[in-house]
Amino acid sequence: MDVVLATAWLRAVAESVTADADELTKLDSAIGDGDHGVNLRRGFTAVTALLDGTAFTGVGDVFVRAGGTLVSRVGGASGPLYGSAFRALGKALPPGPVVSLPDLAGALRAGLDAVTRLGGAAPGDKTIVDAFRPAVAAFEEAVAGGAALPEAAAGAARAAGDGARATISLTARKGRASYLGERSAGHQDPGATSTWLIFQALADVTAP
Ligand code: ADP
Ligand code: MG
Repeated sequence: MDVVLATAWLRAVAESVTADADELTKLDSAIGDGDHGVNLRRGFTAVTALLDGTAFTGVGDVFVRAGGTLVSRVGGASGPLYGSAFRALGKALPPGPVVSLPDLAGALRAGLDAVTRLGGAAPGDKTIVDAFRPAVAAFEEAVAGGAALPEAAAGAARAAGDGARATISLTARKGRASYLGERSAGHQDPGATSTWLIFQALADVTAP
């Protein structure tokens, strides 16, 4: 992955969360406070402005600064969580304009670790983790098996989608949705859904 691809990924995320903002907000209206789409649209629009106006020193720098932007511009739980994830992802990468596939796999794992450290959610708690964790596992497995980036990203996106859909039946144990207890079951988690969009965007920009 190089700086151009890293910025293309984040731009694709911005497009995707903007296109699906209403859907994300609808999901969050069912089990939260209905701001998830608005939160992410605001955050990734700010990231796009950052990308337009910055000369980056390397791939890691792109993600560290995008993460900082998300932390400062997105309210709600998802801003600090996604912001910390991208910051950790960037910090885990070696410096320079190009990073290897194993480096990227390790950095995605560091991003996931940041989310679990900050949010304390376990698998099955009906959160971002339920899409992020299987996505990282699929990415790592593909890379270990010798897959190239498009294939690894497609596998990660599929796993994130499966994880997000599987949140429908779960009862939330973290975040606002947990206040609803068992009434949170029957709805797809907004954060797991946006994590799916993030991995789908990587698959889209790397597709041959
Ligand atoms: P808020 O809940 O503050 O309104 P958002 O609506 O932007 O923030 O984000 C809600 C999403 O954040 C949830 O759908 C869930 O996936 C995710 N989330 C909430 N708490 C946590 C947590 N502790 N760990 C991981 N993800 C979480
Ligand atoms: Mg919300």
